[in-house]
Amino acid sequence: MARYAYVNGQYVDHRTANVHIEDRGYQLADGVYEVVGVRDGRPIDEGPHIDRLDRSLGELRIGWPLSRATLGFILRELMRRNRLRDGLIYMQVTRGVARRDHAFPTGPVKPAIVITTKNSKRGEADPGPGVAVKSLPDIRWGRCDIKTVALLPNVLAKQAARESGAYEAWLIDAQGCVTEGASTNAWIVTRNDELITRQTDHGILAGITRQSLKKLSDSLQLKFIERPFSLAEAKQAKEAFISSATSFVTPVVKIDGEVVGDGKPGAIARRLREEYVRFASGGEAVT
Ligand code: PLP
Repeated sequence: MARYAYVNGQYVDHRTANVHIEDRGYQLADGVYEVVGVRDGRPIDEGPHIDRLDRSLGELRIGWPLSRATLGFILRELMRRNRLRDGLIYMQVTRGVARRDHAFPTGPVKPAIVITTKNSKRGEADPGPGVAVKSLPDIRWGRCDIKTVALLPNVLAKQAARESGAYEAWLIDAQGCVTEGASTNAWIVTRNDELITRQTDHGILAGITRQSLKKLSDSLQLKFIERPFSLAEAKQAKEAFISSATSFVTPVVKIDGEVVGDGKPGAIARRLREEYVRFASGGEAVT
């Protein structure tokens, strides 16, 4: 079966889909993106993801290439054509094609849009054995709240983590605190069963999964606290985990080779993952 991509108004064969060499996304990383999980043929948290896309575009003064309603239609049509049941939708919008210059193009340039899908294994309620993370300095820029395609520091951090046998990198700021993962938000659970994750400001991406987990933790009557936490505190925590559209809730069982808690996925991370999977499946979360 052919796999389709949506590129600037057309559904094209994914293998031969292409963009112009002067696209500012390609030349200057002048663009933004979104990743939406799909479960049982339904996008998870579609509205909040499109809201975040809108915010990212607004922060960079890139216009919408099409209407929001049209985007919703295209997502569904691409899912239908690609028979996507479980997986991910990637959307990328760049400032468009223009003669190379750092400054914004002065003439009328239409933003460029590419949408692709990827099948993946259905996320199970059981988290498996958990993952290891490696800490690395956070060398990114001052606007990590914008979901831009300029991901080189994240790419290098993820690669360093993988080369050390870890699944994810945890990025550490100048104060010794964990900001977030290379492509996930970072969480710990204290000895008092408080859920801690860093506050959303310019230093991290406001994860959509993080936002849903915040709501779920309220319904589970868990204490949710947004504050910085240090790497040392994380290593001493009862539990740790990461969240994202791709990983849902994935327990962290080792940080820099040191075991977290008893070295197994913790009870709270397991519970949150179960609830998230239920939520993603469209069912009501139970308290
Ligand atoms: N932080 C970063 C740097 C990310 O790239 C991502 C997702 O790609 C996240 C956090 C998690 O965000 P979300 O839950 O919206 O997938």
